[in-house]
Amino acid sequence: KARKRFGQNFLHDHGVIRRIVACIGPKKGQRLVEIGPGKGALTEGIISVTERMDVVELDRDLIPILKVNLFKFPDLTVHEADAMKFDFTSLKTDEQKIRVVGNLPYNISTPLIFHLLSQADVIEDMHFMLQKEVVDRLAARPGDSLYGRLSVMAQYYCSVESLFIVGPESFDPAPKVDSAIVRMTPHKTLPYPVNNIKTLEDMVRTGFQQRRKTLRNNYKGVLDNEDFAALEIDPGLRPERLDVEDFVRITNYVLNKEG
Ligand code: SAM
Repeated sequence: KARKRFGQNFLHDHGVIRRIVACIGPKKGQRLVEIGPGKGALTEGIISVTERMDVVELDRDLIPILKVNLFKFPDLTVHEADAMKFDFTSLKTDEQKIRVVGNLPYNISTPLIFHLLSQADVIEDMHFMLQKEVVDRLAARPGDSLYGRLSVMAQYYCSVESLFIVGPESFDPAPKVDSAIVRMTPHKTLPYPVNNIKTLEDMVRTGFQQRRKTLRNNYKGVLDNEDFAALEIDPGLRPERLDVEDFVRITNYVLNKEG
């Protein structure tokens, strides 16, 4: 029986599973890592091609079922672990970065994505099934209604593409909302690097603390009119108008000012 606290909604629609695997496009020998394999619905489609795979599953009761379902694949490595604490850098080799996939537990998808972004330098790409709204937030562009902290931080590290929508009927049990598949590809070199990632996170959080308010309001005590002039940013704008590069410029400016 599916466990709510582990965010379990198992995929049973084979058409959808084939479509996800086609979007991932696994190749023999690549290092694919799946978060939350469950009973192996997605795992099988991938490991049949790659012949090896690492999976990270928290629910220990599912692991024997997974192993029975996938007994044909001796090079499946099951890590009984919490993906939120898992060290993905340990799976990378000198030759190959990892490719991360998963139909993620929706209750922890945002913090899990932040955990993965902090290890983006060992990741080739990521393909996730998420609540559609979270995919829309990840992919939102400046000015979109869902553009915010998650969009800026994801797009600082990655290019983000929303691929397709999956309805509730493809899962057992059916979730209450639509889902979607997202592809996130970490930039090979960061187009706008910051000197301190924590400060970027702070500046983005501060900037968006009240979406309806102006930058002048949100950055009170952090940036004054002179600072906005030096940055050539209009303090009368709302935060949703700033792109990733603007937040990076604010961050490096503040770091510089602090010395
Ligand atoms: N991949 C399967 C499928 O598509 O049918 C299951 C997807 S289900 C939405 C989420 C899976 O993530 C479950 O197997 C659940 O036990 C597992 N899970 C939940 N929290 C986890 C965590 N913190 N770390 C690793 N796996 C977790």
